[in-house]
Amino acid sequence: MQNSILAPGNYIQDTYSCQYLIVGTGAGGSVAGALLAEAGHDVIYLEEGGYYPTEFYTSNISEMTSLLYRNQGVFPFLGKPSIAFAEGCCVGGGTVINGGLIWRTPSWILDEWQNDYGLEGYSNKELIKHFETVEKDMHVITCEPEEKENLDSLKLLKASEELSWKYVMVPRAVKDCINNNLCPTGCPTGAKQSTLENYIPRSIKNGARIFSRCRALKIIHSDRKAKKVIARVMGEESKHIEILFDHLVLAGGAVQTPHLLHRSRISSMAGRNLQFHMNLKVVARFKDRIDAEKGTIFTVQVQEFSREGLLITASNMKPHYIAMALSHYGNGVINSVLEDYQNLGIFALMVRPKSIAHIISRIGDQPLVLYRFHPDDLSKIRVALRRTANILFQAGAIELYMPIAGIEKVKSLHELDKKLDSMHPEKLEIITVHVMASCPMGPDPATSVVNPDGKLWNMKNILVADASILPSNIGTSPQGTIMAFAHEIINRHI
Ligand SMILES: Cc1cc2nc3c(=O)[nH]c(=O)nc-3n(C[C@H](O)[C@H](O)[C@H](O)COP(=O)(O)OP(=O)(O)OC[C@H]3O[C@@H](n4cnc5c(N)ncnc54)[C@H](O)[C@@H]3O)c2cc1C
Repeated sequence: MQNSILAPGNYIQDTYSCQYLIVGTGAGGSVAGALLAEAGHDVIYLEEGGYYPTEFYTSNISEMTSLLYRNQGVFPFLGKPSIAFAEGCCVGGGTVINGGLIWRTPSWILDEWQNDYGLEGYSNKELIKHFETVEKDMHVITCEPEEKENLDSLKLLKASEELSWKYVMVPRAVKDCINNNLCPTGCPTGAKQSTLENYIPRSIKNGARIFSRCRALKIIHSDRKAKKVIARVMGEESKHIEILFDHLVLAGGAVQTPHLLHRSRISSMAGRNLQFHMNLKVVARFKDRIDAEKGTIFTVQVQEFSREGLLITASNMKPHYIAMALSHYGNGVINSVLEDYQNLGIFALMVRPKSIAHIISRIGDQPLVLYRFHPDDLSKIRVALRRTANILFQAGAIELYMPIAGIEKVKSLHELDKKLDSMHPEKLEIITVHVMASCPMGPDPATSVVNPDGKLWNMKNILVADASILPSNIGTSPQGTIMAFAHEIINRHI
């Protein structure tokens, strides 16, 4: 396997060639590469991040973050408030550092894409075979919360029942998970099924080569045909290589794919409509011990308000994560809260906002992402925080630390209501890990960037197979959808 993976130091040629060049080895790229290699094509993957298989992963969260994330995990969406965006940058992309939640696209979203965006051929009936394949390939299962080991999720489940709110057990890509709670920094036991466990080895078995730590800088094209990609070997700043190909598949994620298109002067429409989820974290202190670190994550998801764009789950637990979730409260509060560590839980709410971002590629090597906070999102977040607090108090929380700068902990809904009334958007602590729809797929070149076959409208030989192509904000974790769409696109192509 190692011989198939090039890294800085062993790029001995200046020029390489292949039939299919795939930029990005994450959720979409790895599916595309595996299917193309299995169909007998000569595939090269270009991946900016390094190759770090399971044996590299440790419980040192800051070390792993700098190894596996883009910009060591720091990439702001500029706006008020600025939003911290995190994405994987390693062989396997986001799948290496994500929670492993694999959802089928909600059927009401697929209906919306068909009815409002005119996208044909991607109904539930047409995609179901791909969902089943992805679930099998990724070993997707649901875990029941156990009485001893999943008390944060169990508390959500019981409170949902008491409130008569809808909840579901979460489908996750895991095999023999031992609950070490390190999914966001690389699973050290290999239990979480990233693409390093399946699509990447399958690709290599069928002859694919991986060029790791090598960033695609520019696509050279003429007469609407892409000819080669110029790439920089990371860590060897002056070392550039070029890769010639017959077909190019872009799968660098919803920020980097449009950026590469801009840099190559291929599409100015790409990146204008970047959509994303807003994640906010609430730290809850319970009267009794819940030992949240012992459970696996995200076992239960509260879906009562999913149509309104709100999902609630328990999140990963480690002292570092408490410190990160409470950074706006300052060291004094963090230290005193941590004294009661066994009684704490972190709960994540995910909001589907109306705010939209756009990508600017004029300065330097990296894109700038700007967004405008949509006024309707403030009331949406207010309601989301209130509902989350409601279920947590119902679950037995005695105090909550909210993702709002400048407010004290709250001990009741009444106290929270007063604070929410005077809440300003700039005070919100928002992160995002789901980005999409920056090169939307659709039937009309005036309103979409790729056609329903995944091909760029204005180019003869460029496919896009990542989160960029989702027609709009999906409102749920997107990996299952990205992988299903990648299957459909490559099936139509080979
Ligand atoms: C902490 C975290 C938790 C998450 N949890 C979940 C979850 O549980 N379930 C879920 O569905 N989703 C989750 N997500 C989101 C999910 O991981 C992404 O939506 C998904 O991986 C996106 O797939 P993609 O193919 O678009 O891009 P990615 O998986 O991000 O892969 C893109 C790859 O392309 C590489 N690349 C980019 N530009 C270039 C270039 N110019 N040259 C070479 N290489 C390049 C990148 O380094 C990266 O490895 C999570 C994300 C994060 C960060």
